[in-house]
Amino acid sequence: MTDQPRLLEGLDPEQRQAVIAPRGPVCVLAGAGTGKTRTITHRIAYLVQRGLVAPQQVLAVTFTARAAGEMRTRLRALGAAGVQAQTFHAAAFRQLRYFWPRVHETQMWQLTDNKFRLVVQAANKVGLSTEREDVRDLAGEIEWAKSSLIGPEQYPAAAAAADRDVPVLPEQLSKAFAAYEQLKNRAQALDFDDLLLHIAAILEEQPEIAEEFRSRYRSFVVDEYQDVNPLQQRVLDGWLGNRDDLTVVGDANQTIYSFAGASPKWLIGFPHKYPDATLVRLERDYRSTPQVVGLANQVIGAARERPAGTRLKLVGQRPDGPRPDFAEYDDETEEADAIARRIAQLAKRGVALSEMAVLFRVNAQSEVYEKALSDAEIPYQVRGGERFFARAEVRQAMVTLRAAVAYGGNDEDLPATVRAALREVGLTDEPPAGGAARERWESLIALVELAEELAATAPDADLARYVAELDARAEAQHPPTVEGVTLASLHAAKGLEWDAVFLVGLVEGTLPIQHADTDAAVEEERRLLYVGATRAREHLCLSWALARAGGRRYRRRSRFLYGLVPDEHPAALPNKVKQRELLSRPAKPEKPRCRICNATLAGTMDIKLGRCADCPSDVDEDLLSRLKAWRSERARQLKVPAYVVFTDATL
Ligand code: ATP
Ligand code: MG
Repeated sequence: MTDQPRLLEGLDPEQRQAVIAPRGPVCVLAGAGTGKTRTITHRIAYLVQRGLVAPQQVLAVTFTARAAGEMRTRLRALGAAGVQAQTFHAAAFRQLRYFWPRVHETQMWQLTDNKFRLVVQAANKVGLSTEREDVRDLAGEIEWAKSSLIGPEQYPAAAAAADRDVPVLPEQLSKAFAAYEQLKNRAQALDFDDLLLHIAAILEEQPEIAEEFRSRYRSFVVDEYQDVNPLQQRVLDGWLGNRDDLTVVGDANQTIYSFAGASPKWLIGFPHKYPDATLVRLERDYRSTPQVVGLANQVIGAARERPAGTRLKLVGQRPDGPRPDFAEYDDETEEADAIARRIAQLAKRGVALSEMAVLFRVNAQSEVYEKALSDAEIPYQVRGGERFFARAEVRQAMVTLRAAVAYGGNDEDLPATVRAALREVGLTDEPPAGGAARERWESLIALVELAEELAATAPDADLARYVAELDARAEAQHPPTVEGVTLASLHAAKGLEWDAVFLVGLVEGTLPIQHADTDAAVEEERRLLYVGATRAREHLCLSWALARAGGRRYRRRSRFLYGLVPDEHPAALPNKVKQRELLSRPAKPEKPRCRICNATLAGTMDIKLGRCADCPSDVDEDLLSRLKAWRSERARQLKVPAYVVFTDATL
């Protein structure tokens, strides 16, 4: 007993309360970095260690394959190997593969490998545009409907009720949706949502199977419960039946999938649904410095609507660190190059590359960073490396390693054997200078490091065992850590953490995104910024560029930065170029201007309100008066009229 991990050490009293709560409903409502994921991992391990549940009876659901992989690794280290930790989809896939033949008396249908093509065909069939963007919107809308348990016939009414912003007539969309389902069924194919729909239907309609399932899985855990959608909730209800052995953790302020049908209502409603639930709130933030926590509190504190129970303030537990900083650039290329230089500086100061991330709103932003990092010879991995096993060099490596096993590759020094085999696919002793060659090298060396890790934990592991481990990881989409900066979208960064985080491209139209044209959509964008900021342990840099790479049009910095950028910071000054431009102009007579951003007001309504349509209506008056004072002070220093300072493009 003595050498068992001490599972209650390193937990605070509230976390401990959630860990030792008896089996039954448990809910942890808490902000980012407070240890929710750590708490559930310890709870599972604790229940297993105490013999209160067998590992194979636990099903833990996380949000991304990577998070699931990390949880399994943690559970193994805590002595609870064998617990199923998976995404909803992966869990449903596994169950469906098992039950499908019994229910349908056929082989399970294939998961479609080209959903996009099916949507194109469906759009074509009903005469809708097959332009890439339009098809993407259509696919997104079908996904929303399926996740919200809405079929093609119910779609028009449901879309109207949910105030969906659809570019085509809802009736047309409904037809395309029906055509998509028909084409897919004819091809005997399934999409991701079908996995969940099928398993929910089986559990609801086949009592025997439901019984069998429920005798196998007895204890359920859901991480990031704020982002569960109606379809996932239905599956969860199917898994549970009338039992209540369910632990959920979440943070309503991190709801970032409501555009796709997710809702924090189940998280918030949990204590009402299960009045005898153990309810724990955590406020201590163990991840980030008080400086980062302060900024995160400010971002989310400005949210317009915060449901009851989400007004938790985070209290930083770590020692002081550098203040988050802000940087403004003329264009995107300049921004990316500057960030590459800052990454190189931090690396010189000892921050590991794998401990840094550049996070952006849309994947298209990745390219300019990939180039900047390549040029600076800094290795990187896009999107947390989920596609690691799809990389050409990794696939070649797997083939070579399998061949080595088949030819009886020698069972003495595993890392050396792996290294020798990988020389065949181009592994060199020294890393190449940079660019694609360096990236290849980093993938291969990650495979060698995995062999070293395995040899350290299981000294008698042979090459076959190593290849089996790789296969298991590939199936679970759990890549080894690749040394390199992570480039990821804010959505993909959920639940993860790095020492240094660069939040880039913070301009209107990108964050908030162009199509966020309702208050609710803008609030979701704000939560994305909150998720991004809370990923940083120590260094947090927020940046924006006033023009696209090579573009001319000035863009405004994100409205969410309003009130965050300290007045004295150089970034609060007008952009250099703009400033020069402004200073060279003769003074013009005063015109009605927005009291917030100083932009010229044209419309009568705007003039009446004293603000432009782009500025928020509920501004902090105190901040505004400080801003005004700052503006006139700057104008005095620059010897220009006050309206010249801080015009349109610079707020
Ligand atoms: P998110 O909402 O972003 O998913 P979370 O609440 O799940 O965050 P974790 O990822 O579990 O937070 O924990 C954040 C960090 O704090 C991790 O590095 C974790 O190891 C550490 N941590 C959690 N609890 C404690 C504790 N009691 N003492 C020290 N470190 C802790
Ligand atoms: Mg977490």
